[in-house]
Amino acid sequence: MQSSDGGRQGDAYVPGRVSDLTSLPNLDEDVLLQELKARYAADRIYTYVGDILVAVNPFKDVPIYTKEISDKYCGGLHSDHPPHIFATANDAYQGMLGKLAAPPQDQCIVISGESGAGKTESTKLLIRQLLQLCQGTSQLEQQILQVNPLLEAFGNAQTLMNDNSSRFGKYIQLFFQNGAVKGAKIREYLLEKSRLVQQAEGEQNFHVFYCMLNGLSPQNMEKYHLGGQQNYSYLKNFQEKAQQYRTQHQQLLDAMDMVGFDEEEQEGMFSTLAGVLHMGNIQICSTDSGDAYVDRSAKDLNITAEILGVDSADLESSLTQSVVRTNKGELIQRNYSVQQALASRDAVSKALYGRLFGWLVNKINQLLAPTDTSIAELQQIGVLDIFGFEHFEHNSFEQLCINLANEQLQYFFNQHIFLLEQEEYQREGVSWSTITFTDNKPVLNLLLARPIGILALLDEESLFPQGTDLTLLQKLNQNVGSSPYFTTGKQARSPLFTITHYAGKVEYNVTGWLEKNRDTLPSNTMSLLQRSSNPLINTICNGSITRTGTLALQHKTSKGRRLSKRPVGRQIGELGKKGGKQLTLGGQFKNSLAVLVERITAARPHFVRCIKPNGLKQPNNFQEDEVAAQLKYTGMMETIRIRREGYALRIPFQQFVQRYRSLGDIASIPEDQHGCQRILKAAGLSDWLIGKSKVLLKWWHTDELASRLQKVELAATHI
Ligand code: ADP
Ligand code: MG
Repeated sequence: MQSSDGGRQGDAYVPGRVSDLTSLPNLDEDVLLQELKARYAADRIYTYVGDILVAVNPFKDVPIYTKEISDKYCGGLHSDHPPHIFATANDAYQGMLGKLAAPPQDQCIVISGESGAGKTESTKLLIRQLLQLCQGTSQLEQQILQVNPLLEAFGNAQTLMNDNSSRFGKYIQLFFQNGAVKGAKIREYLLEKSRLVQQAEGEQNFHVFYCMLNGLSPQNMEKYHLGGQQNYSYLKNFQEKAQQYRTQHQQLLDAMDMVGFDEEEQEGMFSTLAGVLHMGNIQICSTDSGDAYVDRSAKDLNITAEILGVDSADLESSLTQSVVRTNKGELIQRNYSVQQALASRDAVSKALYGRLFGWLVNKINQLLAPTDTSIAELQQIGVLDIFGFEHFEHNSFEQLCINLANEQLQYFFNQHIFLLEQEEYQREGVSWSTITFTDNKPVLNLLLARPIGILALLDEESLFPQGTDLTLLQKLNQNVGSSPYFTTGKQARSPLFTITHYAGKVEYNVTGWLEKNRDTLPSNTMSLLQRSSNPLINTICNGSITRTGTLALQHKTSKGRRLSKRPVGRQIGELGKKGGKQLTLGGQFKNSLAVLVERITAARPHFVRCIKPNGLKQPNNFQEDEVAAQLKYTGMMETIRIRREGYALRIPFQQFVQRYRSLGDIASIPEDQHGCQRILKAAGLSDWLIGKSKVLLKWWHTDELASRLQKVELAATHI
């Protein structure tokens, strides 16, 4: 069992040549760090921990993704070649087909790591290689490959941590039949809509705006009344990268064509984007008595109304007045203050953009849906690329949701790698000294518990019309202040609290949280837009697009909260209402996370752990302290120990005999523990255990069994 860039067993130890960290001779944190550092210095960015892939972001092009290398990783065994993301794709593909130790099963690849660690790049490489593996050359594969530039244009932005940061999470499912790809589906999670109207210092709006303003033809610029990027209040930190943006714009157009968006749809998308930009420029002024009105001297209102396909007087009144129906059914108009009008303007823009994104994803899913077979009959591989852990100087509600998602994934990893595995040893009666790990369940509870958890308390406070951000903070203090994972600022009236996440402390600022969580839509402007003469705007404002892509009803079982088996991602009522009740943003996110976890739990997971070697996005810069911190909070040492000492593969006796019968020494092998022992001995394997109902194997036995099986099959064909 040797890999070509260093053995996992037996060789004298040379730092940088150990392709699998479970074979490090003297395992401690420093050895681990020096090993990764030496490998990184030699551009060996991938390393295994058993079946888990560790990927250190090179921040430069490393020539390891060529066609030739990709071909090497099609088929064959995990240990045939040096560690590579393509090998993970191969493992998942072969696993789906049932070519590894277990029977055919749906697979998922869970990619984790901080923002900028390389998750999205890994996802692209995985999808590419999965399509390579099924030798697809049809139009469908080309379409699937083009989905990414589309999603990135609308959903990614430059942040302090990453120049191409995903501002939404995604789970991409590829569907297969007899090993050939049949379709794809994207589930999106929580697009960071707030970025549309405001960006932190040094950060940008979504890429698509800069591409559009630099790339649209002069005629189209005129049609949408657009000018240079410096003209828009929603675009603060623009950069002079005209040529790059023009190229990206062309790529976006090509991707739209390829995936199958027709001309009218493309035109609708650009007019929505232009409408949103103009909307942000609408100036709101105050009368002497404090009522809001629109500054008509600037043309922005008229232009916005024209592009959005509505009447400008109606748009003005909907932005500056609310209409409330009294109990008696009378309609009462109330004037907004300037602040209220601005908030309502921005809320409309965010809603439009969010719905455009939702529509885009839905449309992609329609275009890529398997045609002649139902999804239930197909096999699938899912790739999860969620937004990475974030800790900025200022962290808001978006960061809380993002970090909650990361807590949840870390919990899933722990469950899978430590908890379930060790519980199984107990059931199988194996003597085993428990490997402890840092359980982040208390932090998850702090965030998710009901009725006393941060999101539930936030929801409760969001229901009170008089609630403010500071009353929210008081409520949190009173109810969860005693948690060791929660602290508030020392200064009175400071809007801050800190959570000790698995990946470190993050200080959150509650300013604006109630508003963000309520996610209220200014109903009069939305109903105006529902009558828009622009077909796309009409569709997205009327349609019942799933807002989170994934919502399911929950019901309780004796084992606690479980999700019902209703089809997920079903259409929910208009404006995110469920059963007449508007779901808060936190509530929607919580639900969609629960569905996601259910989905990945149902598949065989493969883990990719992305590591960010430095915070400066620089090549050839390995910051030991930063990497050490990531290794520590991801529980890397414990993971290596359990992969080294543990039995990652656990196969029921009957299944094992049925699969590996041909390796045995006699023809009639009983399907029980004795049969298993005969096979294992005849195959010459060591280090395995027989439990009460299962054979327990080291993760590398997969390869050993597969290669022996190959030999036997080969011999059989030569007879
Ligand atoms: P994340 O999704 O984890 O936030 P990305 O995948 O967007 O991070 O990676 C951030 C940047 O790091 C990319 O834009 C790219 O410049 C660089 N990068 C990541 N992975 C690789 C890789 N395998 N090879 C070269 N550069 C990479
Ligand atoms: Mg990303």
